[in-house]
Amino acid sequence: MGAALMPATNLAYLTGLRFHPGKRLTLLLVPANGATPVMVLPQLELERVRASAPFPMRYVTWSDDTGPSAALAAGMEAAFGAGTPDKPLAVEPAAMRLLELRALEAVAPGLRTADVDPLLSELRMVKDTAELDLMERAVAIIEQALRVALDQVRPGMSERALSRMLSDAIFAAGADGESFANIVASGPNAANPHHENSERLLQAGDLVIIDCGAIYRGYHSDITRTIAIGEPDAEARRIYEIVLAANEAGRAAARPGVTGAAIDAAARAVIEAAGYGAAFVHRTGHGLGTETHELPNIVAGSDTPLAPGTVFTVEPGIYLSGRLGVRIEDDVVITADGSRTLTSFPRELIVV
Ligand code: ZN
Ligand code: ZN
Repeated sequence: MGAALMPATNLAYLTGLRFHPGKRLTLLLVPANGATPVMVLPQLELERVRASAPFPMRYVTWSDDTGPSAALAAGMEAAFGAGTPDKPLAVEPAAMRLLELRALEAVAPGLRTADVDPLLSELRMVKDTAELDLMERAVAIIEQALRVALDQVRPGMSERALSRMLSDAIFAAGADGESFANIVASGPNAANPHHENSERLLQAGDLVIIDCGAIYRGYHSDITRTIAIGEPDAEARRIYEIVLAANEAGRAAARPGVTGAAIDAAARAVIEAAGYGAAFVHRTGHGLGTETHELPNIVAGSDTPLAPGTVFTVEPGIYLSGRLGVRIEDDVVITADGSRTLTSFPRELIVV
């Protein structure tokens, strides 16, 4: 089966080529028979792409005055032969837009498509040494930034002010970008795992969830720490210790051949045993790499045995509506004989 890849994460993973997402049609057409891939692209991108392509490609360009149709037709014929391919073309359902799909259907009437993700996400799941080096760099950057930001946290500062400080620190530490818009969720706001940072001021008695990540040469890190503003009450501290124990149990369960479901169960069991099972409202973790969320899912039903080189997060949490939330997230890689936690930021409760 041939494939048509968008200028998005998979293409960046396979070729190192990054594009600003735009309206100009760009597709990498990959023949199933191992023949040289064909890239259909705007003329203005040609020099840059040709200079940095890591393997031979054939190029068919188009310009703003001609439009992409003729180039796409020529590219399809060069990659897959004349006429509509008789086998489905593998595409990325989450990345391809109607713009590209309609253009493909126009030059290949009756074209059928299939999902390329199962194949590519399996490839992407296992990281080689060079990829792991970049991920460790992304982790070092986010931990440096988190240290800088936590040094400056004070009661009376707003969530957004802390968030901006953290963003600045992430770039100052050498990130190419943030893995996602960082989350600063304080007091009762922390009970919402997807809280949007607000003007709420940090105040004594708050637990504050800080979830952030850095991108380094295309690879993402992702870490969460929960801190306390002033001495927390006994229940908050108890909940913190339960989540920490769940985080440790999840990481301890990680080794070659274990499934995402088993790691989830190990972390979840700790929280259930403490009576807070219903308050752990999300999966234990997710794969991490050229996207912040990729395979494997660390959740019930995720039954693929994990191979060495697989990187994922372990991030159990407890959320009590209207009151508080705690999450502790680390990045873990499966190794030949066990696992290694890439993140090393202190996990004891930090009281500011
Ligand atoms: Zn996170
Ligand atoms: Zn995460």
